Amino acid sequence: MSERKIDTKCVQGGYTPKNGEPRQIPIIQSTTFKYDTSEDMGKLFDLEASGYFYTRLQNPTNDYVAAKICELEGGTAAMLTSSGQAASFFSVFNIASAGDHIVSSSTIYGGTYNLFAVTMKRMGIEFTFVKPDCSDEELNAAFRSNTKAVFGETIANPALAVLDIERFANAAHSHGVPLIIDNTFATPVNCRPIEWGADIVIHSTTKYMDGHGAGVGGCIVDSGKFDWTKYPDKFPGLCTPDESYHGITYTEKFGLAGAFITKATAQLMRDFGSIQSPQNAFLLNLGLESLHLRVKKHCENGLAVAKFLKNHPKVSWVTFPSLEGDKYYSLAQKYLPNGSCGVVSFGVSGGRAAAEKFMKSLRLAAIETHVADARTCCLHPASATHRQMNDRELAAAGISPDLVRFSCGIESSDDLIADIAQALEKV
Ligand SMILES: *Cc1c(COP(=O)(O)O)cnc(C)c1O
Repeated sequence: MSERKIDTKCVQGGYTPKNGEPRQIPIIQSTTFKYDTSEDMGKLFDLEASGYFYTRLQNPTNDYVAAKICELEGGTAAMLTSSGQAASFFSVFNIASAGDHIVSSSTIYGGTYNLFAVTMKRMGIEFTFVKPDCSDEELNAAFRSNTKAVFGETIANPALAVLDIERFANAAHSHGVPLIIDNTFATPVNCRPIEWGADIVIHSTTKYMDGHGAGVGGCIVDSGKFDWTKYPDKFPGLCTPDESYHGITYTEKFGLAGAFITKATAQLMRDFGSIQSPQNAFLLNLGLESLHLRVKKHCENGLAVAKFLKNHPKVSWVTFPSLEGDKYYSLAQKYLPNGSCGVVSFGVSGGRAAAEKFMKSLRLAAIETHVADARTCCLHPASATHRQMNDRELAAAGISPDLVRFSCGIESSDDLIADIAQALEKV
């Protein structure tokens, strides 16, 4: 059968019931699974047979949903995690240990930056941050002999910078390491990083994939394309026997298609236990069933709002990758031709106080730290998440005091624009 379209994969991917089985994915609300003999269970423990024995490692509901996201991204294997943070951590820690080094784009989600620059640094892993639009010379100069991966976001949250995925993939591969892409904001509906050379794709499913503000979650997808066995000294965890798993060598036993995700499940999920609950996986799947419809509407609303703001006298600047004239417009046209996301950043003329007044005057858009929800939400960092900082400290963090991050939901764009217009009038 020919490859199905993304819309069909959103609705039907990952789970095909057999004769008489439930049409919707069943929630397997069970911590453990029963076996007839100890030998049967022993085979599972030895990774000799596939099956379930304890939900901390794997659960059928989670696997149906992971398989759907795997199909959406065009990968060979995938796993759900309890959050996007856990996905980011596992994706890097699966191939890097104390004494290793990672090259990362500097415009990444704040939580990921803190994970890398503070917490993982304490674990002995060093990070070099490069600007997404750095020169090839600067990018290549960031690599060291102990570099194990390159990390970036398709559309950076909250900077809305679009990464030149192909360029970063080429640089990573020329240095013998994989490219890990956080595809949370674009979603596979708008961009499939594996098609541009990315090796591992991760998500905070909390955002557009869930899309209803219902459950925190994450996902890791492996393309199966990176040949770890070409660099056995660099990736010993994948290419030499795992003594904590009866001497299994992941690349030998599971091939390139399965080695990365099996290792992350068998070691990291076993030891850190950042599993998603089957209930949340079920809710995530309901979100995925309409992802293609919602993302289209989020993008349409984002563009309509960005265009309105661009022409408003009380707005000093607008950032939206799909808006003509934006710094990242040409990269967005290449990687995100059907739309980028629903998040628009802009400055209210008059600075911090004007932005605060604007926020107070909104009626439809809710003030939240969240983004990518069906309901429009927005944040003024200078008076909320970053309120302890003065204007100079804010500038150092790359946030201007007038910045409002506006996450367009899937309501009518007429109503969103009317709300923004009446709030700007009060400024
Ligand atoms: C929110 C977010 C994360 C973290 O995900 P959680 O599910 O909140 O842990 C990671 N990356 C991006 C781009 C995000 O927007």
